[in-house]
Amino acid sequence: MKFKRLPLVLSAFALLNACAGSSLNPALFRSAPLQTQSAGRSALIENRVEKARMEKHLLVLTGKAPIGSDGIIMERGTPQGRALTRTYLTQSLEALGYKPEIHTYRTNGSNIMARLMAETPSDEYIVVGAHLDSVRNAGADDNASGSVSVLEAAAVLKELKGRKVNVLFAWFDEEELGLVGSRALARDLKKQGMKITSMHNIDMLGWDADKDKTIEVAQPDGILWDYYQMVNKSHGLNLPFDRTNTGQSDHESFHKEGFPSVCLSEEYTNGDMTPHYHRRGDTFETVHLDYLTLGTRLVVAVVGDLSLKVPPPAGIRQIPHSQFPARQREFHSSYDEHID
Ligand SMILES: [Zn+2]
Repeated sequence: MKFKRLPLVLSAFALLNACAGSSLNPALFRSAPLQTQSAGRSALIENRVEKARMEKHLLVLTGKAPIGSDGIIMERGTPQGRALTRTYLTQSLEALGYKPEIHTYRTNGSNIMARLMAETPSDEYIVVGAHLDSVRNAGADDNASGSVSVLEAAAVLKELKGRKVNVLFAWFDEEELGLVGSRALARDLKKQGMKITSMHNIDMLGWDADKDKTIEVAQPDGILWDYYQMVNKSHGLNLPFDRTNTGQSDHESFHKEGFPSVCLSEEYTNGDMTPHYHRRGDTFETVHLDYLTLGTRLVVAVVGDLSLKVPPPAGIRQIPHSQFPARQREFHSSYDEHID
């Protein structure tokens, strides 16, 4: 039914565009109905990303709102704080219709996972993950922002029709102690022989003081750099990217097991990052929610297209990570370490 109306709409759009001096993005308009016919792109699934829903989760994960009758998450470093965080993630996933899995690798060390199976049987997985712990602070940017972004991806991508690749959503424990949870998980998934075609890690995606919307794309393996750029353009997001060689976050654990990985973050390497990093001041109020929503849209658009097997661009020339700037991340020897 919709298709019939398409030609008329397009000419109206062309007119509009002419009047509005091409401020409207043709991809936004053109892609939706055509998608189902042509390349099967995700029909802008990322437009279903909801800032208000993300804000609600962020309030709970940073101790600004209670988890029903289970109490308040004041910090996500202590075993109690991390256990409460896992409770909240599990409850939120069940509310979305998922069957969350707990991957316990040591005492007080457990990751959370949830699978979104493809509509056509597949043995391939795309992993989308973020660390759930903090350095005993509210950890709003580091890393409630990433945890909420993955939760939102889980909420939105299950609405995507035609998925041909499974998606595994994961929340890693004990990242702040040196990627402990993600190392254990990547190792176990490797041992199980899971076919992970790409891993997308989100760590600190809540700060954009200079309002330039730049997303840091760190250590994009294989086709991922070109693929992110392709989708950024084809979906009309057109966000500025900053490619870096910064490691020391959970994508490194998957990279080490031979799975193509990438980390999405605020401009951690080039400086427009939260001044409250690993400090008491990393609270809900400091997070730039519009920026977090934009970054989440990018990840949802890319993972959506990958799950639909939208082909990568032709003529990819891989450039070694070493040609890009990098910046150290801080690990703590324990959650008891003092923070200002
Ligand atoms: Zn972090």
